Amino acid sequence: MTERVLAGVMASPGIALGAVRHLDAAGKIDGTVLDSDARPQAAAQALEALAQSAHELEELAVRLRADGRIEEADILDAGTMMAEDPVLIEAVEGAVLERGLTARSAILSEVESVAAQLDALGDPELAARAADVRSLARRASRLASGASGRSEQRNGDLVLVAPDLGPADVIELDGDVRAIALAVGGVTGHAAIVARGLGLPMVVGLGPDVLSLEDGEVCIVDGDRGIAVASPDRERTEAARRAIAARREGRARAMASRTAPTVTRDGRSVRVLANAATATEVRDALEAGADGVGLFRTELGFLEARHWPTVAEHRRILDPALKQLRGLTATVRLLDFGGDKTPPFLKGVHGRGVELLLEDAAALSAQLAAIIEAGSATELRVLIPMVTEPGQVRAVRAAIEPIAATSGSRVPLVAAMVEVPAAAVMADRIAPEVGMFSIGTNDLTSFQLGIDRTRPGGAPAHHPAVLRLIAKTVDAARAAGIPVEVCGEAASNRIVMPLLVGLGVDELSVGAAAVAEVRAWVRALDYEQAAAIARRALDAESAAEVESLERPLRVLLDDAG
Ligand code: PEP
Ligand code: MG
Repeated sequence: MTERVLAGVMASPGIALGAVRHLDAAGKIDGTVLDSDARPQAAAQALEALAQSAHELEELAVRLRADGRIEEADILDAGTMMAEDPVLIEAVEGAVLERGLTARSAILSEVESVAAQLDALGDPELAARAADVRSLARRASRLASGASGRSEQRNGDLVLVAPDLGPADVIELDGDVRAIALAVGGVTGHAAIVARGLGLPMVVGLGPDVLSLEDGEVCIVDGDRGIAVASPDRERTEAARRAIAARREGRARAMASRTAPTVTRDGRSVRVLANAATATEVRDALEAGADGVGLFRTELGFLEARHWPTVAEHRRILDPALKQLRGLTATVRLLDFGGDKTPPFLKGVHGRGVELLLEDAAALSAQLAAIIEAGSATELRVLIPMVTEPGQVRAVRAAIEPIAATSGSRVPLVAAMVEVPAAAVMADRIAPEVGMFSIGTNDLTSFQLGIDRTRPGGAPAHHPAVLRLIAKTVDAARAAGIPVEVCGEAASNRIVMPLLVGLGVDELSVGAAAVAEVRAWVRALDYEQAAAIARRALDAESAAEVESLERPLRVLLDDAG
């Protein structure tokens, strides 16, 4: 078979190669019409399958919660509620008793009609919920036909192919699944969040062509470039195998030296921290040698919220994560709702990050109280998202002080995200108000270059226009005597990371899976050399020119793993 390259959107990084395995699609609705005698038993079978699905999802959620994977557990709870929804139960029962559908067809048809209603609303977030609903249909219909609720998989390295996936499908994947390729799907969909947490490469939006790949056909999924390659030729297969082996070796080498200090060859110390949203990621990051957490994304735990989270709801997410960080840096970001992270209760509300929180004093106080209590044994930092002016920092500080005083806690360090060009431009005015800057290169790059951050391949953070904003931020931080962290994806990007070190960034905060590697990169660099190249990069005219300038630094990283 000839090689075919399918272009999609990167949803979870990494590269993997395996045999295509289509997700057990649970069959189609068949045309069987049951005799009236057979209907009561089939109806009972359908309802039993729904009840069993609810039970399985509930058990899975309990396991995840025990593991600190609260966000994923909450997603499964929504599936349980759906399976127990009296309206759905009545519809399924009616489809069997009145229309004579089989148990399996009744489930598929009635659950699909709920999913189709969600799809029809044309909202990407609701479309993601539709994937969750279809995932329930697959599970329940498998159970109704006497199979196990879990999808069957063959042995060997597999690439899972499906139209779309629910988070439960991803959570239950066998160890043999190396990557996921989806026809539809979104990068902010729950399945993508779960895949990233598991370190599985994933590409979404590959279109219907991916569904026509043959079961067992060899496929490469390149989550860094957002492509899938079916029946790759020898050369491409060899290159993929080399990339996979190099990654594995690099990770093993990096893990072996995870206790070595992160100091450049010429003695400049650069701390490496972790980005996390769950207790599991915190655990993995600490095992890989992270100095603490440089960005805890609190909003990811509340994407389904129907109201501003209460203190207790915040504590359910924060406690399992922060209790692991006793005596270590814990940088907890205030809720960054808005944009593609808008929960149902904020639908139609404009604004983003701190702007939204400042409009609701009670919501801000609840989160601050939870953070201050949960982080009392850590080196706590409260990080403010989407800052555009110093007044926003002053307002958050004013809210923190009485809360810390009431609970008898130390006032935590207050840090500002620099992720909107306005914040970088105003950095000299914001710096005196904060104890640290954290540069969010994901948003900063997309806003500065006018490029959608979810575009395949992303936006280049090494564009001189972005590097100049970073340099301006570092200058302002130096003048105010505060440290600068970078917590966007650029901190673990081979091209950008050496430039960040060269520009004088003090801390890099990266995904848990990248901690060990980035630590090894720091040790491979020479700061003076990186600084000289970074200065020249500021005068470059394009990202391509910067790439050619920094090549000698990248070679050092390649050697480090
Ligand atoms: C960023 O914008 O770089 C960042 C770290 O924030 P998020 O990715 O959560 O928007
Ligand atoms: Mg951001």
